[in-house]
Amino acid sequence: MVFWKRKRAAAPARTLWLVKDDPEGSWWCNCPQGIVDAPMHDKQTWPTGGEGWLFTCIRCEKAFMFAKAVRIRPTLEELAERCTPRTEDVGSPDSLELRTDVLMAGPQDWLAVVRPHANGLVEGQRYVFFDGRVLPAVHGPVKFRGLWRNHDLPDLPHIAEDPGVHDVLNDPRYWAAEMGE
Ligand SMILES: [Zn+2]
Repeated sequence: MVFWKRKRAAAPARTLWLVKDDPEGSWWCNCPQGIVDAPMHDKQTWPTGGEGWLFTCIRCEKAFMFAKAVRIRPTLEELAERCTPRTEDVGSPDSLELRTDVLMAGPQDWLAVVRPHANGLVEGQRYVFFDGRVLPAVHGPVKFRGLWRNHDLPDLPHIAEDPGVHDVLNDPRYWAAEMGE
């Protein structure tokens, strides 16, 4: 009797997507390969705490600031299956109960967010997430309309040396400026 040993061919790493880039180990995700979950936030979540300017790891769901565009083995479709449905517990001010919102019901929702970002990536480039955009982590003026508000800054706040620019990330007044609050 012959037992055929199924040989598991290693899939080539060909999907260009974002993986945690944290050589100093200064962020929370400790996964060997922290693959970035679909970078988005909604208006139910206050962006100050990092929702609007940090990446999140698919596996441990912990946050980090920098990610690098590299080739990985899983396809985007496989990651989409793994990452959906994506839900979020939202507290309401007049009730102690948490409500669970469905942010992404199925893989198509995840892919709809991820594909436009993935298509614009340059292999080896370092990126940050900022209010709906995936931006190269390079110095220079930043001007765009984000999910929360318009941004018109002299430098990318994630890497800005000017504390006045850097600190907008976790400044509630900055994020609230166009929220009428
Ligand atoms: Zn992780």
